[in-house]
Amino acid sequence: MAADLGPRAMFVAGGTDLFPKLKRRQFDVEALIGLGFLSDDVRSSAGETAVGSGLTLAAAAVDPHLRDAFPGYAQAAGLVSSPPLRNAGTTGGNLCVDTRCNYYDMTFEWRKAAGFCLKKDGDICLVAPSSPRCWALSSSDTAPMAIALGGLVTLAGPDGDRELPVAALYRDDGIDYLAKQPSEVVTELRLPRDDGVRSAYVKLRRRGSIDFPIAGAAVAMRMEGDTVAACRIVLSAVASHPLEVPEAAEFLVGKRVDADTIRAASEIAAKPAKPLDNADLSHFWRKRMVRLVVERALAGASDQVGVLGG
Ligand SMILES: Cc1cc2nc3c(=O)[nH]c(=O)nc-3n(C[C@H](O)[C@H](O)[C@H](O)COP(=O)(O)OP(=O)(O)OC[C@H]3O[C@@H](n4cnc5c(N)ncnc54)[C@H](O)[C@@H]3O)c2cc1C
Ligand code: SF4
Repeated sequence: MAADLGPRAMFVAGGTDLFPKLKRRQFDVEALIGLGFLSDDVRSSAGETAVGSGLTLAAAAVDPHLRDAFPGYAQAAGLVSSPPLRNAGTTGGNLCVDTRCNYYDMTFEWRKAAGFCLKKDGDICLVAPSSPRCWALSSSDTAPMAIALGGLVTLAGPDGDRELPVAALYRDDGIDYLAKQPSEVVTELRLPRDDGVRSAYVKLRRRGSIDFPIAGAAVAMRMEGDTVAACRIVLSAVASHPLEVPEAAEFLVGKRVDADTIRAASEIAAKPAKPLDNADLSHFWRKRMVRLVVERALAGASDQVGVLGG
């Protein structure tokens, strides 16, 4: 159906992001293709855990295996939005969720009055008018964690199934943000099992519930004794794609985790984050907060929460 209908159709899973956007006329489609048939199983083998894309975020957040083997992923799922939306929203939908911008996530009437923008119906970016591109923000909570954990997605399309690292699912483009074919469905997320890897996700938002991240940090870390053997750090809501910061991770490898190394790595991690004025709260303040969310995620993943003090 998706291949036949092309841009006239969209997939819908939980509908928690899509339905509000349809009401605001952010998409013009004639048909919705329901994904209610997707598996909601969590299957674990020696080498990996497969999370069916139909699993709700609420179920992922409390799944005993995910909480034990991938605590950062369960934390991220449990921090999405609010309980009613987590009961309907799916893990697959969270990986594919649209990018966000204050000038775009508005009613049709608001956008018409303010002037339409590049992402929908217009020909200019209202955040960066001289820019030829859209800077809408990747705002998924689970995508950065899935990347930090080295996850793969399985895509099913008209030509069969294929696998892709989660990191390769995203483009640095606020409009064309997914690198998959529009007719491909994300059927599962596969997380490599490594009992030595610890993970944590820390999210910043205005309120304790409902709000999308305005900065977030996902950390997966392997320790050998008290030194870091491997590490991946991925930021949310600071770019049009989940932003991996390998320089900070490389800095940590071979070092003991203490307050000084955590602070130094967080400074490095925050450098590439350049928030624009298109999300909640001041972008200058959001930029300053990136360092802090990384500090807390690093401390959480290394069980060193106490070292940072107040
Ligand atoms: C008030 C509010 C607050 C929110 N807060 C957050 C938040 O804090 N963090 C956050 O990450 N999200 C948030 N969301 C967005 C949304 O609820 C979640 O991202 C949710 O996980 C989306 O999943 P879904 O199954 O409902 O997706 P849908 O709304 O059904 O779909 C979202 C998009 O993904 C596509 N899609 C869905 N599933 C698949 C699939 N398996 N394969 C291919 N394409 C697919 C759809 O076509 C659509 O483009 C919020 C939404 C609202 C309305
Ligand atoms: S970043 Fe610019 S083009 Fe993209 S949604 Fe916002 S205003 Fe529109």
